[in-house]
Amino acid sequence: MLDTKFSELPVLIEYGVPESDQQKAMTMVEHFSHDPLVINILHEFYSHLPEAEDDCILEFFLLEQLDGVQLFLVRSNLGSYFYLVNRDKAELVGTVPEGPDENSLHFFGFSDGAAFQKKYGDFKDLTSHANTFIGKEACPSCFCKDGDSHVFGCPVEICPWCDGQLTNCNCRFDQLKVDEIKNQMQLDSFLKLLHKKGRISYDAASHCPSYPVQNEEINDRSKEEEN
Ligand SMILES: [Zn+2]
Ligand SMILES: [Zn+2]
Repeated sequence: MLDTKFSELPVLIEYGVPESDQQKAMTMVEHFSHDPLVINILHEFYSHLPEAEDDCILEFFLLEQLDGVQLFLVRSNLGSYFYLVNRDKAELVGTVPEGPDENSLHFFGFSDGAAFQKKYGDFKDLTSHANTFIGKEACPSCFCKDGDSHVFGCPVEICPWCDGQLTNCNCRFDQLKVDEIKNQMQLDSFLKLLHKKGRISYDAASHCPSYPVQNEEINDRSKEEEN
């Protein structure tokens, strides 16, 4: 999915970006080639140009982040736009100066546009989104921040019962005392048990970049390296 989007970008840029800016646009694609969030934004932007006119993205700013969903401010030649982004897709949810739509504001805990405006003002003091974001600060799978809980179901989350991979160990069955999980209600009950036990939050220093594996596997692998 992401590979497809990435491979479509040169064509989208050829048709959607003014000729004088095409080199700049492609440089940005290369620069962010390992950042799925940016690839999703670039693909959405150049597929459905917000002003229905040739345009070129100049900069990205990550504003908000919650449960694997992020709010980006995207500056282009023609304007500034808000995109809601996760690992699967990006969606245009507003423009400057109107601000993000109500659903997005509420999702990130803003009571209204005024509260959002109060936090961000005229967007002058933002730090540009860097391509190190995915590798260094966020979970490589669900993009939660260092020290935050993963999005439930993230394969990087470590099980607090067995220290294994939470999506792969058997603790969910053991805890629910069932052989099979059949519905959302069971998942919700498991999430409650998980909260009660205490979720292991993402620790960029120890969990990244490789996915957690069982301790034995780590031991085995280190033995191999010694030999
Ligand atoms: Zn995660
Ligand atoms: Zn477990």
